[in-house]
Amino acid sequence: MGGAGQGHPQLHPAGPDRDRPHAAGGLGHAVGIAADHAADHLRGAVRRRPAGARARGPLRAVAHHRIVALPLCGDPAGDADRGHRAADLHLGGRHPHRAADLRLDRRLLPDPVEHDARPEQRGPQPGGPVPPVSRQSLAGAALPPPADGDALLPRGAPHLGRPGADRRDRRRIRGGHGRARLGPRLSHPGSRLPAQDSPDVRLPRAHLRHRYRHLPGAQPHLASRAPPLARKRDEGTEVVKTALASAGSRFWLLDARVPTALLAHAEGPQEADGLSRVDIRIEEGRIAAIVPAGHGGEDGIDLRGGQVWPGFVDAHTHLDKGHIWPRSRNADGTFAGAINAVMADRTKAWSPEDVAARADFSLRCAYAHGTVAIRTHLDTYMPHGAGTWRVFRKLREDWAGRIDLQMSSICPLDRFKGDDGVALADMVADSGGVLGMVTRHSGGIHDDLPEGFQEELDHFFSLAEARNLDLDLHVDESGESGARALREIALTALKRGFKGRIQAGHCCSLSIQPEDFAKETIARVAEAGIDIVVLPMCNMYLQDRVPNRTPRWRGVTLVHEMRAAGIRVSVASDNTRDPFYAYGDLDMAEVFREATRILHLDHPFGDWHGAAAAAPAEAMQVERQHGRIRVGATADLVLFSARFMTELLSRPQSDRIVLRAGKVLEATVPDWRELDAVVGL
Ligand SMILES: [Zn+2]
Repeated sequence: MGGAGQGHPQLHPAGPDRDRPHAAGGLGHAVGIAADHAADHLRGAVRRRPAGARARGPLRAVAHHRIVALPLCGDPAGDADRGHRAADLHLGGRHPHRAADLRLDRRLLPDPVEHDARPEQRGPQPGGPVPPVSRQSLAGAALPPPADGDALLPRGAPHLGRPGADRRDRRRIRGGHGRARLGPRLSHPGSRLPAQDSPDVRLPRAHLRHRYRHLPGAQPHLASRAPPLARKRDEGTEVVKTALASAGSRFWLLDARVPTALLAHAEGPQEADGLSRVDIRIEEGRIAAIVPAGHGGEDGIDLRGGQVWPGFVDAHTHLDKGHIWPRSRNADGTFAGAINAVMADRTKAWSPEDVAARADFSLRCAYAHGTVAIRTHLDTYMPHGAGTWRVFRKLREDWAGRIDLQMSSICPLDRFKGDDGVALADMVADSGGVLGMVTRHSGGIHDDLPEGFQEELDHFFSLAEARNLDLDLHVDESGESGARALREIALTALKRGFKGRIQAGHCCSLSIQPEDFAKETIARVAEAGIDIVVLPMCNMYLQDRVPNRTPRWRGVTLVHEMRAAGIRVSVASDNTRDPFYAYGDLDMAEVFREATRILHLDHPFGDWHGAAAAAPAEAMQVERQHGRIRVGATADLVLFSARFMTELLSRPQSDRIVLRAGKVLEATVPDWRELDAVVGL
């Protein structure tokens, strides 16, 4: 559209077309309006309609830089009676000087293009400059770069794609008709037809017969051809996003499914897979009410049963190591290979700038995915660990209000001996951190407990007790049955009457230890009130890896037995694109999906949803702000189009909508290329 550099975009007056009085119900010739006025037009530029006609909700708009584009043409797209009108032909005649302004790369739109215009109309629009696209503003749409020759064409109001939806009664009313239907309908009035599609996916001229209602014979064939054309993002997501953009600060989210485990108080009808059906009121960025579905206000945003989760909480990550993979690969993918690669990289390359750039990148990933709180472990080898902590104290400050960042030390247990141990514990205390270690010695792996283990463990506890520090431990991360630190930690905590919180991660070897021993260990862990965090992606990646041999073991700990014993269990990301795990994006939706598959958290799901938000929030002691959807809390929510767990866990949920304080978060995940210079690519 005639945006940047071509003067201010204009709004063509909405309303009846003088030349075609029968088009009184037209959308008006709105094209581009300044963002400042977008809200008015989103509400106000609705089609004029004869008195008594049904209201049809706002037009769908597409944000483009500071401009919002509205549908163009007077004829509702998909109207088989009047046929379609191409923007240039229709408006070009009346506004010849505007014709160039009306061009817009149609890939900017979620589902923009009529499929069935006359051949001369559906081809590429006349050539002309396409303005640069601000992809940030495109609300999460993953779009290819714009190309000449594509065009914005007419399309209908969003809900017209749902035959029979009647908005007067808010939702779940079936049987009404938004407008007269004429024979067959395509799945959406504005199905998308990318210019590069081969001619055979376009409807042949013969199918244009469907315009003529006296040719019903053409209908079945046409209908059968429609589905392949429906190549588009989930329409509902875009509708919800647009509605949220114009909803103001007080609105209802209507007909949501929320995992009951993620509600502070059970509310609404309970459904399979542990889901509750509720309406959620948001006022001034906070959750003002949660009521059973159907009891919310009349005006609201209809989620059509889509799931709503609270912001995710990721209780175990390694942001200081993240994304070093391109310069420090794990040669054989093993645990020992990971330790060696990270040690070399740390010595060689971990300047404050290097660590800060990678960690900030990671935080932006997590933020865009909907995470609100993260705990990261930081490799801390005194006296050289202080620099990393300085970087993260700054990051914690910089990210305050977006992500609550907690830091925990990590180093082998023997590093707490002597003055270094005291200095380390002091620095952690001064930084408001958590005291952490791994239950092995420097240079060792998780195997039989090292000599002097109990004495060192007591010393470690005493350092924490003297400073009122909580603990976060990497425990028994191996498939060696001799790795039995978990029980010793529980017994030590009980023996000492340790008052702080303890989170233990991994505990892999527990699952290959004798049944009775494991059972007894779990009982002591429960008694000591230790929280468990399981890292299923990293465990499955590292454990039981032997070159040229197929893994036999999933590497994860006994989470079901732990839950049965009353232990709080979280799932978390662990490493991200470093030698301990070559993949990952700090996306807790992925973590929960993989955890479900690896750990069989399903059938029944029970309250396992809590492992991605409620449980880690409690373990991190941020449960007052995060972890559950509760009245009074900030409206930090993740909205999915998926209604059921089988839908939620079948796709990556890239089109999720993240709400922060009730507003749509426009943040997108950063481009990996940003790190090329940092990691030496
Ligand atoms: Zn870890």
